[in-house]
Amino acid sequence: MKQGMIGLEIHTYLITREKLFCSCIASRKKGLKPNTNICPICTGQPGAKPMLPNKSAVEKAVQIGLMLGCTINDSMTWQRKHYDWPDLPKGYQGTLSGEGTSPVGSNGTFYGIKISSMHLEEDPASWNPDTGEIDYNRSGLPLVEIVTAPDFSQAEEVVDWLKKLLHSLSYLKAADSDAGIKVDVNVSIPGKTKRVEVKNINSLESVYEAIEYELERQVKEGSVRETRRFDEKRGKTMSMREKESQDDYRFISDPDLQPLVLDTKFVNALKNNLPESPQQKLEKIIKKYSIDEKNAAILTKHRDIAEFFEGVSEKIDPQFALPWVTIELLRVLNYHSKNLDEVSITIEHFVALLKLVKDGKITPLKAKEMLNQFYPRSFMPNNVEGKITDIKELEKIAKEVVSHNAKAVSDYRAGDSNALNFLMGQVMKLTQKRADFALTRKILVKILS
Ligand SMILES: [Zn+2]
Repeated sequence: MKQGMIGLEIHTYLITREKLFCSCIASRKKGLKPNTNICPICTGQPGAKPMLPNKSAVEKAVQIGLMLGCTINDSMTWQRKHYDWPDLPKGYQGTLSGEGTSPVGSNGTFYGIKISSMHLEEDPASWNPDTGEIDYNRSGLPLVEIVTAPDFSQAEEVVDWLKKLLHSLSYLKAADSDAGIKVDVNVSIPGKTKRVEVKNINSLESVYEAIEYELERQVKEGSVRETRRFDEKRGKTMSMREKESQDDYRFISDPDLQPLVLDTKFVNALKNNLPESPQQKLEKIIKKYSIDEKNAAILTKHRDIAEFFEGVSEKIDPQFALPWVTIELLRVLNYHSKNLDEVSITIEHFVALLKLVKDGKITPLKAKEMLNQFYPRSFMPNNVEGKITDIKELEKIAKEVVSHNAKAVSDYRAGDSNALNFLMGQVMKLTQKRADFALTRKILVKILS
């Protein structure tokens, strides 16, 4: 494993209803028609003035700062960060970064890595260099930039840490997971090479590859202080430009915006209501419900699933409920490629279904079938035709199956145990999965012998 000194700048896209300085709808949905959520402010028309910054974006930025263990600063001055590029027609980005202001949060620690600062800013538009087209839907969306100290020494360590960061951010429900990630990586070899910034890396795999490539390149070629980009297709970093200094951005305080003042009460209220972290949730589920670590990890992958399980476990034996959540519920959600918050499955209905199984009123197979019908909306499983446990009735059905499946019967008698599963399946089909499994199996074996 290659060693170096590595720091990160991570862009986290916030989930808010509106953009940062105007009331346009904030959406990063893929496939959205270009230039639909726009106004004079976010398209940078001459003379347009920003509205008061979006309070919900400020709240979410503070929550992220608290999650990262940062000190939240109480007064910040909005800055204009100037640069000329087609994605930024007004010529500057509104930001709480730069030397003229305090960031939202500073001096944090997250899983052993120091967080130098984290700040709130607006996203520029997106520009397609091939067609020259600009899409302003993204212009003015709020984002948080998290800057770490150069505390990492290996690519693998970076990726592990980023996974923890993304998992924790998902628990806050502050960051838009559909928007993906954008990471800038600073890489150097202490005492040997100059710091190189690799910009705009869009996936964890690419972060890993870019660091590995850059460390190897620097060992071979040395480095100048510059900005590079990562070419995913070629798996290489390429020179973009020599590093601009802070002066090049000509930061000035924005005369159109009041300083952002955060009072202690506001920050403390957010601090006290911070949701549990994935680690805290994991430990709680292991301890409170006696769930093994592997299953607890499955449950806590998504906060909604963990909370759903906790809710279910208040009403029914957690051990009984466990596979119904970790296997069956996730099966239904995965099948439809949905998250739990995108469907309407209530704890009440889910527990009622499980109770029917637990009390022996319906078969697990039947319950699985009903769970399929809980998509997209669950219902109270009333008037369900119950499990068939009547031996006479089951014998009648089993005999019918045996008489219609001569091949399977002879296979079974010739020692093929799969043939019995096939015959079981036929009984289940005829009974709409209501036949008691163990009883049916016994009856079939008896008839066949
Ligand atoms: Zn707008």
